[in-house]
Amino acid sequence: MTLARQRSQNLRPSELLIPTPAGLYCPLAEIHIDPVRPVARALITHGHSDHARAGHGAVLATRETLAIMALRYGEGFAGERQEAVPGSVTRIGAVDFRFVPAGHVLGSAQIVVEARGLRIVVSGDYKRERDPTCAGFEPVPCDIFITEATFGLPVFRHPPAHLEVAKLLESVRLFPERSHIVGAYSLGKAQRVMALIREAGFERPLYIHGAMETLTEFYLSEGARLGEIRKVAATDRKSLGGEIVICPPSAIQDLWARKFPDPVTAFASGWMRIRARARQRGVELPLIISDHADWDDLQATIREVEAGEIWVTHGEADALVHWCGTVGLKAKPLHLVGYGDEGEAEPVEADNAVTG
Ligand SMILES: [Zn+2]
Ligand SMILES: [Zn+2]
Repeated sequence: MTLARQRSQNLRPSELLIPTPAGLYCPLAEIHIDPVRPVARALITHGHSDHARAGHGAVLATRETLAIMALRYGEGFAGERQEAVPGSVTRIGAVDFRFVPAGHVLGSAQIVVEARGLRIVVSGDYKRERDPTCAGFEPVPCDIFITEATFGLPVFRHPPAHLEVAKLLESVRLFPERSHIVGAYSLGKAQRVMALIREAGFERPLYIHGAMETLTEFYLSEGARLGEIRKVAATDRKSLGGEIVICPPSAIQDLWARKFPDPVTAFASGWMRIRARARQRGVELPLIISDHADWDDLQATIREVEAGEIWVTHGEADALVHWCGTVGLKAKPLHLVGYGDEGEAEPVEADNAVTG
């Protein structure tokens, strides 16, 4: 571990950011980051529903995140909206805010908060593995790094996603009569899985559940290379033997899924590392594909940003805080409530943020 950056002597961290019941609050700029209840002014890291909520007076977020919020909540999701251009600084009061890619889903950003030489990075949700559907995580050296810990336990080590997709395609090859029903969250995971399937050379149409149509169209309009996508509703499910169908995780156990020919059920999630979780859900083909950093990548990232202090927002905070202590880093859990990624935190959570 290299030396932490020289920290400003004249500003205390709590003057720049403090945890409140509504979320992280910056008193100097009077803004909240990813607030879980309506506030006057919100800065939002990404479009998952636990971070991006409707009803704020004003929202500052990337263009893609603003678009995703409008798709999910309607154009009136906030009183005002302001676009944060990645890399450029927005000054509010005496504080500089900069959005930097987080590699989590399309439009996802870390927010760099800086005043009088003190720099705090709010990473939101992030991953380090390459994702063809969004810009990669950029580490920013800082004094305090605020991280999630969704998969902050040594058991969570995600294999390369392309190897998991290869398992899916091998199953499709072995069982050409059966439909493959892949549960994946509607924002990010579903489109990432589709893009990885294309990268692996699978060229037949991919079928999607109606609930992911809007977001998938948005990804396509943003240039994601997903190939030919067809909506299941418009086709006869009985005729889709041998095809790949992507649906919300909640649908894999529905009657909806049983109408396909002898379906193989798969689920793309970091939780699939835990065999019992796959069994509980009746998942025949677990695919360990996550949009969150695994245990190794949480540690690698913490080392890379060279922060002297780590604050942990949600997930396995105690384990990660403990690890920080073992390598001589000051760390604390923030006990923020309301986060548990729509995208991944709870494997049994219904994907109800998108209607239909
Ligand atoms: Zn998320
Ligand atoms: Zn989250």
